[in-house]
Amino acid sequence: MKTHHLDTVVIGGGAMGSAAAWALASRGRDVTLLEQFSPGHRNGASHGTTRNFNPAYADPDYVAMLAEAARLWDELETDGGQRLLARTGVVNHGTDPRLGDIRNALQGQACGPSSCLLPKPPNAGAASASTTTCCTCPTAGS
Ligand SMILES: Cc1cc2nc3c(=O)[nH]c(=O)nc-3n(C[C@H](O)[C@H](O)[C@H](O)COP(=O)(O)OP(=O)(O)OC[C@H]3O[C@@H](n4cnc5c(N)ncnc54)[C@H](O)[C@@H]3O)c2cc1C
Repeated sequence: MKTHHLDTVVIGGGAMGSAAAWALASRGRDVTLLEQFSPGHRNGASHGTTRNFNPAYADPDYVAMLAEAARLWDELETDGGQRLLARTGVVNHGTDPRLGDIRNALQGQACGPSSCLLPKPPNAGAASASTTTCCTCPTAGS
């Protein structure tokens, strides 16, 4: 039986395994990515029309990681010459008090300018208008 000596093996070619393989190969490793299905298959967690790239988190560390991820999506698209992430932008809104923290965390990060919208509707009571927060993130997408 012939023996193959491999430098680095990544098992699973979903988003995580593919990202790990890409990062390792970019750093000069000789990577073998093992996937049980064909490329672009629909059997893993990484596939689905509900997936989106939404940097709206209250924790600034998470937002910083998502800003880094956005940059890496750009780099991957440039490398492959193919658009992978449609930057549609995402709006998060409602009365959850954490939205204020999310807006604060988004501000100043490289995920693009976030803004607080929603002018007071003409017939809205003071309470509803004052507790509604809306955060936009233009670099989000799906
Ligand atoms: C319904 C749903 C909605 C989600 N929505 C979002 C969202 O909006 N935004 C977001 O950021 N995240 C979302 N997530 C989470 C995100 O999709 C997952 O965290 C991510 O896709 C996980 O990637 P993965 O590579 O770990 O797993 P997978 O994509 O499942 O990849 C694992 C791969 O390993 C392969 N594999 C397994 N065993 C073997 C083996 N023995 N040999 C060879 N290959 C093997 C599988 O075939 C598969 O391709 C959602 C998840 C789900 C389920």
